[in-house]
Amino acid sequence: MPSTRNVIIIGSGPAGLTAALYAARANLQPVLIEGLEAGGQLMLTTAVENFPGHRDGIMGPDLMAEMRAQAAKFGTEFVQGDVTAVDLCSKPISVKTSEAEYGSKTLIIATGASARLLGLPSERTLMGHGVSTCATCDGYFFRGQPIAVVGGGDSAMEEAVFLTRFASKVTLVHRRDTLRASKIMQDKARANPKIEWLLSHEVDEIRDTGKGEVTAMLVRSNKSGEQREVPVNGVFVAIGHTPNTALFRGQIELDQNGYILTHDGAKTSVPGVFACGDVQDHIYRQAITAAGSGCMAAIDAEHYIDNIPEHLATV
Ligand code: NAP
Repeated sequence: MPSTRNVIIIGSGPAGLTAALYAARANLQPVLIEGLEAGGQLMLTTAVENFPGHRDGIMGPDLMAEMRAQAAKFGTEFVQGDVTAVDLCSKPISVKTSEAEYGSKTLIIATGASARLLGLPSERTLMGHGVSTCATCDGYFFRGQPIAVVGGGDSAMEEAVFLTRFASKVTLVHRRDTLRASKIMQDKARANPKIEWLLSHEVDEIRDTGKGEVTAMLVRSNKSGEQREVPVNGVFVAIGHTPNTALFRGQIELDQNGYILTHDGAKTSVPGVFACGDVQDHIYRQAITAAGSGCMAAIDAEHYIDNIPEHLATV
């Protein structure tokens, strides 16, 4: 195994890249393993209008390219590919990719979460062009237009209510006739006159009639099998997220939904291992909060390295 690194970062969304920037500027020569879906969820969006410092907005992929270039400028070493295994308890911490094995004094986990998708081909094609997984990010683009939210959990209720601020109408599509959401969230949504309900319905297709942006959705009643087209300009898929923590299961404390538990900043249950971004945050899920937590993780890692007992410092 080559010499021990100071910091290895896994993940290249706003959290990982900000951690890299701070670690690089602290002269820690970080190694960042980008993952096969380099850039994270912002690669699936178009305009980002709520990242401070970009008054006129910036395209998601451009923002990620800028963040990557900034981290590179200060000496971050980028490694392409996915991590295949980690040993968080070994000293140094071991991180393997299909190509190499690394040892590090600290590890920053920024592997993010993936929004669950319906699995329709049209959903992929129109992602960022009317299909969204983030109401906070994209609601503003649908002022005065009819849109749909898919899902029956708390997220779907919250997003539907939030989106009524902008949309002319929000059609809530849920596959069962009962909602999973908590009563209080259901009550809020049900009391909102701008929300229309399509229960026991599934989305079969999102249509663009060749325009490259959403014009309608084809829904099907799973009771009668009847299909019909509903005109909408946006479809918000709110059927949950999956934190990317499979690699760490059994080695670090996770909450009941699989998110990494952090405390006192970005610390995890394993000394020397820090987590930032959506992999440990199922509440805010914003690029700016992910970036902020990436900064915290790098500073925590720096403090940890400064305080490693002398007998471990040479590992
Ligand atoms: P969730 O509770 O897992 O709900 C996901 C919803 O999407 C369910 O209604 C599910 O339907 C539906 N769904 C899943 N896969 C689907 C598919 N392939 N096609 C169609 N529908 C599908 O996820 P969540 O709403 O994101 O909430 C996650 C956690 O965060 C929960 O613990 C929630 O309470 C919490 N949360 C809390 C708040 C709040 O308190 N303010 C806000 C948001 C989230 P079924 O019901 O049929 O399974």
